[in-house]
Parts: sequence; structure tokens; C-alpha cells
Amino acid sequence: MASAPKKQAPTPAPKPVAKTAPVPAKANKPAKPAAKAAGKPEADHPIYDELGFSKDPNNLYRQTVGSMLEAAELMNLPHHLKIILAQPKNEIMVHFPVRMDDGQFRLFKGYRVQHNNALGPYKGGLRFHHDVHLDDVKSLAFLMTMKCSLVGVPYGGGKGGIKVDPYKHSKAEMERIVRRFTAAIAHQIGPDYDIPAPDVGSNAQHMAWIADTYSFLSEVGGLQPEAVITGKPVEYGGSLGREKATGQGVVDTLMVMLPEIGIEAKNAKFSVLGFGNVGSWTARILQKKGSKLIAAMDHTGAVINDQGIDAEALAMHVQKTGGVRGFKNADAASSEDFYRTKVDIFVPAALEQMIQPEQARLLNCKVVAEGANAPTTPPGERVLEEKGIEVLPAILCNAGGVTVSYFEWVQNKTCEQWDLATVDEKLNKHMVHAAEKTREARRKYKCSLRSAAYVAALERLRAAYEVRGIFP
Ligand code: NAD
Repeated sequence: MASAPKKQAPTPAPKPVAKTAPVPAKANKPAKPAAKAAGKPEADHPIYDELGFSKDPNNLYRQTVGSMLEAAELMNLPHHLKIILAQPKNEIMVHFPVRMDDGQFRLFKGYRVQHNNALGPYKGGLRFHHDVHLDDVKSLAFLMTMKCSLVGVPYGGGKGGIKVDPYKHSKAEMERIVRRFTAAIAHQIGPDYDIPAPDVGSNAQHMAWIADTYSFLSEVGGLQPEAVITGKPVEYGGSLGREKATGQGVVDTLMVMLPEIGIEAKNAKFSVLGFGNVGSWTARILQKKGSKLIAAMDHTGAVINDQGIDAEALAMHVQKTGGVRGFKNADAASSEDFYRTKVDIFVPAALEQMIQPEQARLLNCKVVAEGANAPTTPPGERVLEEKGIEVLPAILCNAGGVTVSYFEWVQNKTCEQWDLATVDEKLNKHMVHAAEKTREARRKYKCSLRSAAYVAALERLRAAYEVRGIFP
């Protein structure tokens, strides 16, 4: 039976997704200046001024690029590469009208940011969310460049999205929104140029509509217009294993890294923030390794059971009801109790900037495995460091999704369909290799795993730029 948490708490349900003021339970409390919050000044860099970055230390893009610049300093990356990588190549913003079911038109805003294509076509997901902004999309596109480089796939980085709440529209409205957005960016994407995929709020059905619209508009015909997008349903060019790939990659990374942190997967306790695609698959796969899910939180609330929560049953509950709230075999809890729960592994798998100093101080775990992109703010990370908590950075830990997206693209281009065992085995090789490169960089530079992962990613980009040169 679930042990009773201190408060029988109707969770102060985290506001669905506030990314500019993201801390769930205290979203309307004025944020403390980031530098003071962790007791140390925020690292500055002359490139912020040179490129006209936001002066706000809490700005997501500034924070994301800041992690890369720290690593770039360690390895003496030339200045021209730092500035090239600190800004995206293209930022595309579109507005498009769509007829709603009641006959009225609404205007939507969409984005596609193409960060870098030195290693191959732009690659990265599409986020459908009411609070998506250009800065978020730029940050996520930047992370894709780093991730693809680290995990050894022949892609650059991109990201996109539509400012829309997909849960507030009928299926027919969503189909018109997605198809019209595809038409608006159709001449900016392509199977050999820019290949989107799913992200928060988008799914395989949306990818199928995009592939169908693109093949119709581009009149490519032939065998592979659907290679313009990955994360498609298996019936229409999707890959086996893509749906669970990011969670699988998180677990593959943990299996490599846990022994040196002194954790045995069998009987390890873990908690998960965000129980969508990444969170729920991580939980289900980790459970198969003998680990025990103790607590989960999403935008509907938090649940805790010290005796363990069946991740499969919780995933079914979320599928039926839309969130973890109301799950019978666990107790409702407050967001504070959720963060405070003693576990070995904490997996943030929701949105950016959710682990600020306040949450970091509450966390009682040995390792944070970043399933989400940029979930830990730099001040939050400094608190974790002070507490001796290891952080497995997102560009390593959640790179399984893009790796299997790459496999899907290869299968489309070669008209093959691989079996699940082949996909899992190839994914594991990429994840293990990326984890080893990260460990090697940490040994060499005696730095955090985050900096080490960036160093490993930047080494590959530097090598490519050295031989390519810069046009003209
Ligand atoms: P999803 O939409 O399937 O799930 C998002 C989860 O976050 C949901 O459980 C939602 O309830 C929760 N959430 C949203 N707002 C919250 C809040 N304020 N407080 C608590 N929980 C909240 O999305 P996903 O695909 O699982 O993506 C999650 C993260 O992983 C994102 O950062 C995404 O960019 C990253 N990611 C996804 C993939 C992928 O293949 N889907 C790959 C790499 C990285």
C-alpha cells in the first residue's frame, strides 16, 4: 500500500507549461536573480555582447549557449566557431489562417529554426504548444546540433513549432492546422535539407499529415518523399522502436553511467517529472531493469508510493485520463513532496528550466538523468553540484530519439524495414559510444559531464569545419 505523504495534497497543479516563468508550484512568485540564487555569479562571456544576446541571466537561449561556451573555452575552440555556433543560420517565422469547425478563421504562428548543417541536413522536432516562443525554438535547435554531433549521426540541428494547444482542438481542426503549417514551410524543408520530427504536443499522426502534405505539394513522387519527416506511424514509413527511442536511450545511458556513480539498476529507486512520451517510456524500460518507480509528476499533479508504482499501469492511466492525477495505487502529493522524495535516480522529462535552485535544493537523489531538453538551469545545476548530485546532460541522455529518427530516414531512403532487435542494438551502440566519448572528455578536462558532452560534440564540429573551410 502507498505510504501516506505528509499532506493529502491536492497538488498545486503546476501551471501547464510556463516556460518564461517555469517553476511549477510557485510560478507567480517573482524569480530571484539567478546569480544570487545559487550564491555564485553567473559566468559571463564577451560573445553575449558581441552577438547582442539578451542581458537577462534567466533567458533560456543565453543559458543554453552558455553551457557550450564554457566547454569551448576548455578546449580552445576558435572564436569564429564560437560565434557561428552561438547563432542559428536561419530563423523562419510564419503566420497562417485556418478555418475552425465553427466556420471562423484563426491566425496561427509557426516557427522553423535551422541552427547548423555542417554535419548534414537540419534535424529536429516540432513542438505544438500554446506557449512556444522563438527563443525556445532557437535553444532546442541549438541543442539538436550538439546532440547529433555527439551521438554520431550525419545531421545538423533544427527545431520548429506551432503556437497552439493541440488538446483544445478537434482532430479535424488539428489536421487543417498541421497541413496548412506544412504548406507554409514546405519550400524550407526537404528529405535532404531539413527533416522535422515529433516533440512536445506532436505525435505520429501529425507526422503522417506532414509527410502526406509535403509529398503532395512538392510533387517529388517516387519512393521517398516521406523521408522529409521522422516519427511517422510504422504503417507509413515509420521505424519500429521510434516511439520508445528517447526513453530507451535514457536507460541505455544510465546503464553505462550508473556503475561509476555507485548505483545498481536492480532495486534502484527513481522518480519522473513529466509522464509523456519520454518520461513514461523511460519509466517502463527502467522498471524492466529491476528499478522501482516511486514518484511521478506532470501538469495534472503528483503521485507517490514508497512501495513502488507500476509504470505500465500509470502509463495506461495517463493515456486514458490525460495525466497522473487520480492514479489509484499511489497517493496524491504536493509538488514539494514530489521533489523531496528520496530516490537514486531523478528523471526530468517535462519542459525546460524546471530545475531551478529551489527545486535543486529539495531534490534527494544521486543522479539526474535529463530526459527533457534543458531542464536544469545553470543556477540549479550549481546547487546540484554543491550537493554532489551527478547530472547526465540532455545532449547525451535524450539523444536516443534523434538516433532512431536517423534509422527511420535511412530505412526510408533504402526502402528497408528493420526489425526491433536491430533498431535497439544499433541505438545502444550509438548511446554507449557517445557516453564513452563524454567520459573520455571528462577525464581529459576534469570538468562536469555537461561540459564534457559539449567538448565531445564540439570536437566533431571543429574537425568538420577544419576540412570544409568557410565559404567563400
Ligand atoms: P510529451 O508532450 O509527450 O510529454 C510532456 C510531459 O510534460 C507531459 O507529461 C506533461 O504533463 C508534462 N508537463 C508539461 N508541463 C508541465 C509542468 N508545468 N509541470 C509538470 N509537468 C509538465 O513530450 P515528450 O515528447 O515526452 O517531451 C518531453 C521532453 O523531452 C521535452 O523537453 C522534449 O523536448 C524532450 N525530448 C523529446 C524527445 C521525443 O522523442 N519525444 C526527444 C528528445 C527530447
